[in-house]
Amino acid sequence: MQQYMEMKAQYPDCILFFRLGDFYELFLEDAKIGSHVLGITLTRRARGKDGTIPMCGVPYHAIEMYIPRLVEAGYKIAIAEQISDPKDTPNLVIRKVIRVITAGTLLDGRSVNERESSFVCAACVQKKDVTLGFADIATGQFVITSVPIEQLVDVIHQYSPKEIILSPEQYNSPKLLGVFSLISHLNIAPFLEWSTWNDRADQALKDHFQVSSLLGFGLEAENEIAIAGVLLGYLTYTQQGNVTHIKSVDRINDSHFLSLDATTIESLELFRSTMDKSSEGSLFAVIDKTLTAMGTRLLKDWLIHPLAELKPINQRHTDALFFVQHPALLADVRKVMNEIVDIERLLAKLSVNIGNARDLVSLRDALERCEKVFELIKKYRWESFDMADLPGSTITATQLISQWILDDPRGITKEGGMIRPEADAELAELKRIFTDTTGWLAEFEIAERERTGIPTLKVGENSVFGFYIEVSKAHAVAIKTEHGYERKQTLVNAERYITAELKEKERIALTARESIFAREFHLFEHVVKQIIEKVSALQRVAHVIAQIDCVTSLSQLALEKKYVQPTMTSDRVMSIRNGRHPVVEHFLGNAFVPNSTDLTEQQRFLLLTGPNMAGKSTYIRQVALIVLLAHMGSFVPADHAIIPLSDRIFSRIGASDALHKGLSTFMVEMTETARILRNVTDRSVVIFDEIGRGTGTLDGMSIAQAIAEYVATLPTHPFIFFATHYHELAELAGKFSAIKNGSMAVSMHKGQVIFLRTLQEGSTDESYGIEVAKQAGIPSVVTRRADQIKREMKLVALRKIEMIDESDSQKFMGELLTLNLDDLTPKQAWKKLEEIQENKKT
Ligand code: ADP
Repeated sequence: MQQYMEMKAQYPDCILFFRLGDFYELFLEDAKIGSHVLGITLTRRARGKDGTIPMCGVPYHAIEMYIPRLVEAGYKIAIAEQISDPKDTPNLVIRKVIRVITAGTLLDGRSVNERESSFVCAACVQKKDVTLGFADIATGQFVITSVPIEQLVDVIHQYSPKEIILSPEQYNSPKLLGVFSLISHLNIAPFLEWSTWNDRADQALKDHFQVSSLLGFGLEAENEIAIAGVLLGYLTYTQQGNVTHIKSVDRINDSHFLSLDATTIESLELFRSTMDKSSEGSLFAVIDKTLTAMGTRLLKDWLIHPLAELKPINQRHTDALFFVQHPALLADVRKVMNEIVDIERLLAKLSVNIGNARDLVSLRDALERCEKVFELIKKYRWESFDMADLPGSTITATQLISQWILDDPRGITKEGGMIRPEADAELAELKRIFTDTTGWLAEFEIAERERTGIPTLKVGENSVFGFYIEVSKAHAVAIKTEHGYERKQTLVNAERYITAELKEKERIALTARESIFAREFHLFEHVVKQIIEKVSALQRVAHVIAQIDCVTSLSQLALEKKYVQPTMTSDRVMSIRNGRHPVVEHFLGNAFVPNSTDLTEQQRFLLLTGPNMAGKSTYIRQVALIVLLAHMGSFVPADHAIIPLSDRIFSRIGASDALHKGLSTFMVEMTETARILRNVTDRSVVIFDEIGRGTGTLDGMSIAQAIAEYVATLPTHPFIFFATHYHELAELAGKFSAIKNGSMAVSMHKGQVIFLRTLQEGSTDESYGIEVAKQAGIPSVVTRRADQIKREMKLVALRKIEMIDESDSQKFMGELLTLNLDDLTPKQAWKKLEEIQENKKT
């Protein structure tokens, strides 16, 4: 128990799984939590003279089933393994924590979706900035970035880490913790060894990556080096040293990517639909044609980090075009691709010592298929990726695995059944000894039947009791002293015996078997070690395969859905012929009505009016999505498209559409709008959908108009799409040259509104609200009354205008009548008239 207590003190924030024989035992508080979360019986173990302590346990082979449940419930787990053989030192079994498992470093389990990256994040807040590191233990991805604190939520949203670690000081600062707790569904925990790693970050990173300078990774700033060091430290701590597959660190440079903030990601429904929060109905669900888990993860990354530079964007378009132009090759590649399992995750499992021989065989099969993909492509001289050295590393790895590992090995590593006996003379000899015993047992059985005269006598073997001679109770009387049988075990109907000769054979066989297990495990580890030495080359293979999967996914999408290659331009023009909304089109098919877009530097603001339900929202989102798709390297749903190179896309929806957030929605809307106004650049694309809807009509319209006027006159010249049902705003086009009016066409037929879904130039002046209500089945009593109220309100409005006019003229008359003409010179009288005229004008 002392050893347990010492270990627990080293891992105070973990539930300690303490290996005792065939079980992992949990004690004290851990046992209570374990029994509660896992639903296993809580027992007690004697301690000291009379005392007992709570305890519960799980069988060692079932641990993979239990761990994810605890981790998903928010706990960290430390696994303490026996590292000395209890047979050698029965009184002092040495144990060591071999792994710490946390939400962000869990490699298996229900919550682990292979098709998603699973990041752990280290974050450190400075005065106005926050430095963040993200690492995916399953794939070896490791990135560092720094952003102003307002962008924290956006970055977190982009990576969706499963766990955030902070320094104990920042974790204990209510203010900072408050910043992080804005982000829901997150495990946030302090990393107790933070400062140790922080202090030696530079050297630790250099040692790990085996470089003399970190500049090659773009790491220069002290705080970024520190975060990278701490994150590496955390991975080393959780894996207890085995993180060799983390081969490089990327510093994310914002200027390479088009930025999407959290609200935009949400409102454009890139990964989840706003309606039901499911991934169905999201843009990603529609465009994702990838076939491997690695490809899916990378395509998600491409969508969330669209490119912002012409050259790489054009390169992706050209690559996608290549496969569009070679459909037969595309089909062949995809056929093989479909069978490639997750190489990155297999490499990770092997690197952190939780892989088995089946993983090796899966890896070999996957690598052989990668080779096939490379061969197929090579014939076409497609030169986008430098694949020259890839086959070499895959061939050595596959050969190595084939040479040593059986085609259908066992899934556990310590019980043999993994290694080809012919590969190793020592193993072959041990196996021979073992098989000889089996043959010997059969002969022994025949001999003993003869010797005892018992025809049903059986010789057998059992993993717990070892070798035995079994005789039914009826025949047991025939056993005489001279047979030399020693009773070993009594069953219901039979007795089991052993003889000195059998005992000796048992010893030889058991020793041989254990030696086989040990030898196989040794050889297995040897193969794994050699694979791990090649891990960076193999990771590169995996990455190139993921890239090919993404590119071919884009080509497949283009072919299936008739998307076209967009032309990217640095000029300020946007011209989309017959654009379609990728998701709405997916569900409506041919019923979808395409619409075009033509904006220029001079007319860069489309003010889109039209009644509710006319299709305004769909249209402006369609434009934003087309711009986004083009920047991620995809073809776009249109007949022809010229897309301006952009650095940001902003999308804001009027408050009433965001009611689910439960915050003061109008306040949210205004804060977000303010943020756009501050951050918008010459190269931004902004869509405003029904801004100002969250408050009363007069306020709402005034705010909508004020915002429209403001963005129309910004010193920067972003492209703006402004959809509003306040058709009165269309007048703005007359005042601001940047604004052009558009409206969604509607026609009336026999009192029914017909939505044509076509965008036309110019504005509408009707909102058709009552007609839409009629169509929606509102009782006619209500709509008739609404018509009446509308008419009355129009009359009241007119009367007000008349009254204003009347009161004006009365005032004017009053002023004239009170003038003392005798006191005025002609010049003064003229001046007075001029004043009255001026007043009237304003
Ligand atoms: P608004 O923003 O004007 O209220 P929406 O964009 O929400 O209107 O569109 C209303 C409905 O019309 C949506 O359910 C959508 O499916 C359909 N719709 C919109 N645009 C089109 C289109 N171009 N072709 C076919 N249906 C469309």
